[in-house]
Amino acid sequence: MRARYVPKPRLAIPEGCALCGAKPEELTSGRFRTYLHVDHDAITGRVRGLLCPDHNLLIGRWNHDPTLLRRAADCLEASASV
Ligand SMILES: [Zn+2]
Repeated sequence: MRARYVPKPRLAIPEGCALCGAKPEELTSGRFRTYLHVDHDAITGRVRGLLCPDHNLLIGRWNHDPTLLRRAADCLEASASV
């Protein structure tokens, strides 16, 4: 029997949102099912991963700016420790 060629996947496919871990079967909006979104760098087109709809919107509204997102996290942590 000949061995069958099975190509290796180029990317590990995550099971859920890269930020919160929500899995596709857990995503709903009211009565409707929603889906994971493919997050990509708008300039290079490089795919970064999958995000739930809420976190995809969050990243976009914060202009894909990691510095701004870190500052927001710092602000939240500082206010939580007061
Ligand atoms: Zn998420």
